[in-house]
Amino acid sequence: MPEKLTKLNRTIKDHVAVVTGAASGIGRATAHLLADEDARVAILDIDKAALDRVAREIVDIGAQALPIHVDLTKRDSIRIAISEILEHFGRIDILINNAGFAIPCGIENEEFDQVWDRSLTVMAKAQAWMISETIPSLRLSPHARVVNVASTEALGATALSGAYTVAKHACVGLTRAMAVDLGPYGITVNCVCPGPIHTSLTAPIPEENKTTFARRRTALGRYGDPEEVAHAILGLVLPAASYITGAVLTVDGGLTVRNA
Ligand code: NAD
Repeated sequence: MPEKLTKLNRTIKDHVAVVTGAASGIGRATAHLLADEDARVAILDIDKAALDRVAREIVDIGAQALPIHVDLTKRDSIRIAISEILEHFGRIDILINNAGFAIPCGIENEEFDQVWDRSLTVMAKAQAWMISETIPSLRLSPHARVVNVASTEALGATALSGAYTVAKHACVGLTRAMAVDLGPYGITVNCVCPGPIHTSLTAPIPEENKTTFARRRTALGRYGDPEEVAHAILGLVLPAASYITGAVLTVDGGLTVRNA
């Protein structure tokens, strides 16, 4: 029998994954995909009703999901969530820092301070808190993986999105810093930068505007679907993705490479 050259493991069966912002969009798609790959998923969100619906969807397809209501603006809420996950599953192997929102707001707007504080807390500081609270468990995992969800706004800027843009740039910085700090424990830390994706975040944009924008600006000429981002995340959390860390992966249909 000839020996196979491929040795690295491509399954996350029974790994415990934590996904924030899992009640909707990219987080929901990622939770479904990881569960479909036989991981056990803890799904976290501030929207309890939607979260419970997603948990039921996952359980209905025969997988394991633990819904945990969390407010990522509060470190205590995160601490409690992580201890509930450990009590239920006993370990954490994968952390997906995905929760976010986009509130258009110019720097002269009187709401700016509030938008800035909430954006940077949920989309940057809470990602660091989640990493900090899960490190003791991740260190025990043979294939510990962290994926932070940033945005193409981490690589450029759209008008009137200052707070969002800063938070997403911080997410890339956090990814690189943590890749360096946690590398010695074998924990990989990467981030994905989605481009325009059909989710509740982009739902307020009229369909016609979306189509025109995507045709003009992306290489593939269309918006992406949440599941397409989830597959990029899955690739990064496989045990076989053992030498990828500190990477910034665009999942943007070619938005950032298209000049004209
Ligand atoms: P979404 O609105 O569908 O999902 C975001 C989820 O985050 C929601 O369920 C929301 O309740 C949750 N959330 C928000 N604040 C929270 C808090 N304080 N505590 C706990 N949960 C909270 O949006 P989405 O498009 O799926 O966004 C997911 C991530 O992808 C975000 O970080 C977003 O910035 C990023 N992203 C999205 C796009 C896009 O086009 N949709 C593009 C680039 C990046």
